[in-house]
Amino acid sequence: MIPGQFEYVRPGDLDEALRILKDREGEAKLLSGGYSLIPLIKLRLAQPGLLVDLQDVTGLDGISETDDHLRIGARATHRQINENEIVADRYPMLHEATALIGDPQVRNWGTIGGSIAHADPASDWPALLLATGATVVCRGQSTEREIKARDFFVDTFTTAIEPTEVLTEVRLPRRPRLAGGAYNKLERKVGDFATCGAAVAVQLAGDGRIVWAGVALTGVAESPFAATDAEALLQGGTPSEDLFRGAGAAAGVQARPAADVRGSVEYKRAMAAEMTVRSLRSAVARAQAYA
Ligand SMILES: Cc1cc2nc3c(=O)[nH]c(=O)nc-3n(C[C@H](O)[C@H](O)[C@H](O)COP(=O)(O)OP(=O)(O)OC[C@H]3O[C@@H](n4cnc5c(N)ncnc54)[C@H](O)[C@@H]3O)c2cc1C
Repeated sequence: MIPGQFEYVRPGDLDEALRILKDREGEAKLLSGGYSLIPLIKLRLAQPGLLVDLQDVTGLDGISETDDHLRIGARATHRQINENEIVADRYPMLHEATALIGDPQVRNWGTIGGSIAHADPASDWPALLLATGATVVCRGQSTEREIKARDFFVDTFTTAIEPTEVLTEVRLPRRPRLAGGAYNKLERKVGDFATCGAAVAVQLAGDGRIVWAGVALTGVAESPFAATDAEALLQGGTPSEDLFRGAGAAAGVQARPAADVRGSVEYKRAMAAEMTVRSLRSAVARAQAYA
């Protein structure tokens, strides 16, 4: 697998990266961890004329909490996020999900920005962002857009990013009291992409009812998607196994899986329901404990 020829540049700051993207629009491609892009180039499924390596660009890293959101820089690796103290302490859903991405090598190199810009329907980050109501920040030469995750993932490998923009950070709503989230992923073997994954985030009221729920699925549609029928069913409900089973069934029906080596359509629908139920149980238990 020998790639075609391409030029390579390593800009030192974001303005320079944006200028290059504008000057070489149509042929330049950003490079972050390279764990999705390099295989595509080797297989000649992508043939960019110029790779713009982001590794020296400052300001795209770091993880911090503001008054209203958790900010994750686009260049943060899955491992850095997994090992971050704020994430481990207050965002268990992200902590458990990042431990399930690929293998240690993938987690050391792969970045959150690269993962969501790539928008593989089998990747884990999109469902986490859809379920939590996250936003994605994209910078152009003279523009900055904050895009809701639900408007960001357009189709298979297609997002709302313009070719002249750089995704700079992801913002997840700061976790309030009585809120919790969980991610369950079914994989054939350790390190595999998901057969199916379910991300669930809930906010409870003081009386224990669910006042807000986000449910999103990995690997069971042509693009990452929010299971809105399950969300509607959960809204206002009192947590119970029956409610969870009903929401799981709704998520399974709304899934649009394709049969492949990971299973039949019927199997994937059943697993979408089951992963949703498991994530609901954990998310609600975590919300109840976070008083
Ligand atoms: C063996 C293997 C197993 C894997 N298993 C999993 C798994 O279980 N779950 C999972 O979710 N993923 C998995 N992955 C994918 C992995 O997480 C990748 O790291 C990720 O998909 C891409 O991130 P990256 O930083 O490597 O991006 P790159 O490969 O560098 O880039 C990917 C795409 O994003 C664009 N891009 C990158 N950064 C930006 C930016 N800041 N702004 C705009 N566009 C940008 C690039 O131009 C390119 O189109 C696996 C990969 C491999 C090779």
